[in-house]
Amino acid sequence: MKRLEFFKIAGTLAAGYIAGCTSEKRKTHLVTLSFDDGFRKSCEKIAEIYERFGLSACINVIATGHLPGFDPPGKYIAATERGDFGLWNELQARGHEIMPHSYRHANLAEMPFAEAQGLILKCLDVFAEELEGFDPAKAVFNFPYNASTPELEAWLPGVVMAFRTGFAAVNELPHPGMVKLLTTGYGPENCESHLDKHVELLLSRPSGWLVYNTHGLDDEGWGPIRSVYLERLLERLVQIETVQVVPAGRALLEAVGAIA
Ligand SMILES: [Zn+2]
Repeated sequence: MKRLEFFKIAGTLAAGYIAGCTSEKRKTHLVTLSFDDGFRKSCEKIAEIYERFGLSACINVIATGHLPGFDPPGKYIAATERGDFGLWNELQARGHEIMPHSYRHANLAEMPFAEAQGLILKCLDVFAEELEGFDPAKAVFNFPYNASTPELEAWLPGVVMAFRTGFAAVNELPHPGMVKLLTTGYGPENCESHLDKHVELLLSRPSGWLVYNTHGLDDEGWGPIRSVYLERLLERLVQIETVQVVPAGRALLEAVGAIA
């Protein structure tokens, strides 16, 4: 896609989103399905399904996951083709959020601090090089295995806008200064009933933000959900007055007034 065309589409999406958002008051129940690992077929389907409801998906990809030299950590990532930055730029131009999910999916909590820092910076360099308009100051870094350390958590807010790690069922609503997003998930088998329980938990509270860590659709990835389930869930959520289905970065940027 040519650069001018990209900006035209992005501008149209942004204008539509702002028009839709400013006319309604702030929602009290936010839902982010945070899709990890960047499986090509799943992400194409996820984007299509979200677009049917006028929504933006939250997709977190491994910086080198598409390269021939990538050594997949385990069978769930190895078994499924990952997308590349051609696809990530296309999905971003269609209004979806593409965020970093590490350089090579190493467990950053199980290595020396300096090595983990180096891998995060390398990941962000790849994103800056490959993803149109990428700005670390507006990025959410999604830890592989939701495994972080206190040292990494103290350092990262100077590098990215926020990070996602484990584990909690529901976060507070996004607010200025919020840098740590807690998530939960379930696997390796289908996670739908676990996700359903967390949606109910969120809705039983006066307010909150569920950041649920999903992966692939149908038979792809660890803890998948079915395409038909995703469609029914979104169909249900968009009809609930208090709910906003929103990608993580956008939720935070809205909270600080960087976007309406
Ligand atoms: Zn992952």
